[in-house]
Amino acid sequence: MKNQELIDLLTKIVQYLYLIDENIFKIRAYEKAIKTIENLPKPIEEFKNNPEKLYTLDGIGKGIGEKILEYLFTGKIVYYEDLKKQFPESLIEIMSVPGMGPKRTKLLYQKFGIENVKMLKEYAQRGVLENLEGFGKKVVQNILDGINFKSESGLRLLYNEAESLSKDITSFLTEDETISKIDVCGSFRRKKETVGDIDILCCPKKENDFSVIEKFTKYPGVKKVLSQGETKASIVINKNVQVDLRLIKKSSYGSALQYFTGSKEHNIQLREYALEKGYSISEYGVFEVDTKKYVCGKTEDEVYNILGLQYVEPELREGQGEILFAKQNKLPKLLSLKDIKGDTHIHSTFSDGMNTIEEIVHSSEELGYEWIIICDHSKSLKVAHGLDEKELQKKISEIKKVSNRTKLKIFCGTEVDILSDGSLDYSDEILAQIDFVIAAIHTGFKQSEEQITDRILRAMENRYVHAISHPTGRILLKRDSYKVNISKIIEAAKRYNVLMEINAYPDRLDLNDINTKYGKENGVKFCIGTDAHSIKHLNYISYGINVARRGWLERKDVVNTMSAKEIEKYLNFKK
Ligand SMILES: [Zn+2]
Ligand SMILES: [Zn+2]
Repeated sequence: MKNQELIDLLTKIVQYLYLIDENIFKIRAYEKAIKTIENLPKPIEEFKNNPEKLYTLDGIGKGIGEKILEYLFTGKIVYYEDLKKQFPESLIEIMSVPGMGPKRTKLLYQKFGIENVKMLKEYAQRGVLENLEGFGKKVVQNILDGINFKSESGLRLLYNEAESLSKDITSFLTEDETISKIDVCGSFRRKKETVGDIDILCCPKKENDFSVIEKFTKYPGVKKVLSQGETKASIVINKNVQVDLRLIKKSSYGSALQYFTGSKEHNIQLREYALEKGYSISEYGVFEVDTKKYVCGKTEDEVYNILGLQYVEPELREGQGEILFAKQNKLPKLLSLKDIKGDTHIHSTFSDGMNTIEEIVHSSEELGYEWIIICDHSKSLKVAHGLDEKELQKKISEIKKVSNRTKLKIFCGTEVDILSDGSLDYSDEILAQIDFVIAAIHTGFKQSEEQITDRILRAMENRYVHAISHPTGRILLKRDSYKVNISKIIEAAKRYNVLMEINAYPDRLDLNDINTKYGKENGVKFCIGTDAHSIKHLNYISYGINVARRGWLERKDVVNTMSAKEIEKYLNFKK
């Protein structure tokens, strides 16, 4: 799949367009096209011989469409090659240094020939930049700090890491009880799988009480205070994460929350729609266009409702048609934690899990589950102590034994390896004795896209396979997925009546949100498995729910919402 390469290239074009101060509408058009490709669940190559289809995609007109085709056929975009002749590519990196931006980057390049971050640092340290118009001592210091910060970070956080940092900071800020409302907004609130920085909004109990800003800069985990004003401050904390805090007035809290939650695309669409209705929306509130009169903005509900829209859950705010659905009152009623009655993917001490079946049962009872599925590895996965046929029999009888002591329904599952030729690691006779079979790839990642796709398709054809686990094999921030035509797999899941797993382990979240939505649109059903290797991991179910919600899933789309009786019937139906 060339989608990511194309996105990277178009992103570079956008940065060049900022650098040459191109018309903002032209820049927006590219940004929109990038967003569309990011959300495309199929390989962009499929449009190579099908240009008419390409032009039907949202935001891809003739101009950009032709460039995409050019890229697919030649591997290059001449327009980009020409842009590179005007300015060196390394300026793009300079532009991303906090405190720089396109104007300053261009000025320094034209005046001193500064064309990379190293040169920028040297010039800044030598004091050459301080006397330039629009720079000054403070700006130069910011740039130097920015360079240092950038070299240390550049990383994103996994959602669960951002979650624990956010909890820690917000409980610190609220301990004196001077705050009436506090929210972490941005991509964190939209439950994206990784988070860049943490944006916090809060509303003090007493108007004009700004003391929480001072407190924020004294947070025990603070490494550096980047800026501190009366109502806003930015700090860098451990792991080099930037955290911003803004104080918001009661009357604008809802509109500020809406504004800072994003996404950019959603907000642009919402604003356009508001204008049609005669309103303008900003972080300060909703205003009548004609009279500029404040209409509302205390809560997010008000902001959406005044426009005649259903409230849009943050997870849906990605500019993927949610405003149209909200207009028609047809937004999905998203899955939530209270709907969950069981977990489909738990490892026990029989393979590489830390806890016994007995212990897992105990924790699952505490979570209020009706059923669980204990899935251990199959025999060829020696590193994870996969079970041979004899051990599997032992596991089956252990489950019987523990079942006598609990109301919880325990199913015997397996995470069976899909071998390199697409056959499964257990014979059909063995698989027939297992309640729930999820098939997964753990080896042979280097195979071609065709080979891996065929391998998984072959596994799905097996009548005993209920689900495919972590279907793309990616590890967030560490390893890309193996090469697989995931849209083909998803389409086949419907055909073979195989579940797609949303693996809830925090660095997997696989399927991802985009493919999940594609699956739903194709009538696929899902299971959410924590892939727990310890009872502590059972709580990861919430991260799987995040993905499901971002993928527009409702109760009926997910088998974890079934009662013990229903799931038993469902699993038997396969055999
Ligand atoms: Zn696995
Ligand atoms: Zn597993």
